[in-house]
Amino acid sequence: MSNIINPVELTSELIKCKSITPKSAGSIDLIISFLEPLGFSCKKVDFGEGTEKVENLYARFGNSEPNICFGGHVDVVPTGAIENWSINPFGGEVKKGKIWGRGAADMKSGIAAFIAAVSEFLEINKDFNDMGSISLIITSDEEGKAINGTKKVVDWLINKGESISGCIVGEPTNVNKMGDTVKIGRRGSYTGSLVVRGIQGHVGYPHLAENPINSLLKMLQPLSKIYLDDGTKEFQPSSAMITSIDVNNDASNVIPGEVKAKFNIRFNTLHSIDTLTAMLKKHFDAITPKYEFEFFCNAEPFLTSDELLRSTLQKAIEKVVKLNPQNSTSGGTSDARFITKICPVIEFGLVGKTMHKVDENVEVNDIIKLTNIYNTFLYNYFGVKKID
Ligand SMILES: [Zn+2]
Repeated sequence: MSNIINPVELTSELIKCKSITPKSAGSIDLIISFLEPLGFSCKKVDFGEGTEKVENLYARFGNSEPNICFGGHVDVVPTGAIENWSINPFGGEVKKGKIWGRGAADMKSGIAAFIAAVSEFLEINKDFNDMGSISLIITSDEEGKAINGTKKVVDWLINKGESISGCIVGEPTNVNKMGDTVKIGRRGSYTGSLVVRGIQGHVGYPHLAENPINSLLKMLQPLSKIYLDDGTKEFQPSSAMITSIDVNNDASNVIPGEVKAKFNIRFNTLHSIDTLTAMLKKHFDAITPKYEFEFFCNAEPFLTSDELLRSTLQKAIEKVVKLNPQNSTSGGTSDARFITKICPVIEFGLVGKTMHKVDENVEVNDIIKLTNIYNTFLYNYFGVKKID
């Protein structure tokens, strides 16, 4: 009996699991039920720090090196008002050449395509065991806080001395067409909050008061320049954005005693958490000592340096869709920021046009193409000749 898995049917089954972040709603168990018959050893790695229990999975086939890994998440963002959807978001329906539902693009079909690609590869290459390993890191905590998901699984893998040679994260990276974009890195994200104190008073007696807004405006100056640098060959310029200024003052005759502000910086490899913090503190200190500053950075920028990973994926895409993909580092953050701690990581999945939107969908043909790309990648990465 053939073990080859149909990626469209598996996508549909996964969409039927109502895995709104950080719930797995049976989707991780479903994935295990497909991987175990292929010979994978599956280990559920659950964490629950500060939240409900989050299910994660590390699955591995084979014991040899290299160990190529696939990273993905089964959790999805909420649907929003259900009456705005023209289909059942958890129906997994296939119609008009598309598969519909929450997670269709981001990123249940990516997971299904990889598992299907592996099933074909192992079915044909029965002696693969000696050539290397294939593994998967799947989480249900990516779309939310992302504290009990891939981040902790990677630490767990590092602690147990697991070696991974490279990883493809199956996020929807393509902009318009299958094969148009690969993500070779991502910018970092730095969030800061400032509280500046002055002396409250009457606007008519300013010499008796001290307006903290005046200091704050000067402090925020470097953050009101949209771009902080000119970018690099691989990265767009780092950008800063003030996201909130809060005085909480309804009176027109009162100088407020305190003002708060928040900002976010999306930064490239020209900066680090430490250089940004030092630059900001130096600037703030020159204006006033009467402030409190806190920052939070859950993503440092990274760039995929592994030529083998990059060129193998590039060639697989060219072979299947006859397109030369663009290498991009744009967009928000993804779990690739955590995986980069253990191995080189690159991202490639479906077309992201409808992700997080009402009536999320992807072309059935694109799922087939993605399956073929992942499959071709496996053949080329392990140096096995594919018989077409
Ligand atoms: Zn995603």
